[in-house]
Amino acid sequence: MKTGKGKFHTDGSKCVYGQKKTPKKYKPCCAMFNQCVTNCEYDIRFEYRLGFGQKKKTWGVIIPADGSMYPLNYCPFCGKKL
Ligand SMILES: [Zn+2]
Repeated sequence: MKTGKGKFHTDGSKCVYGQKKTPKKYKPCCAMFNQCVTNCEYDIRFEYRLGFGQKKKTWGVIIPADGSMYPLNYCPFCGKKL
């Protein structure tokens, strides 16, 4: 599978690799977390954005099946509050 800006998966869906969705003053709590903000949507990917029915952007894990987001309050790797 090819990944990168403007690339597409074999099923024709757009690959979001390299398209980070982070707050303006983003500071990763740990290297593992930072890795996940640039992961492809078919890997474990974190984004900072609006979830369903939310009015404030939050961190979340992207669910590959439908592109929805499961909210994250703490880093699953180092345990720091996000
Ligand atoms: Zn962390």
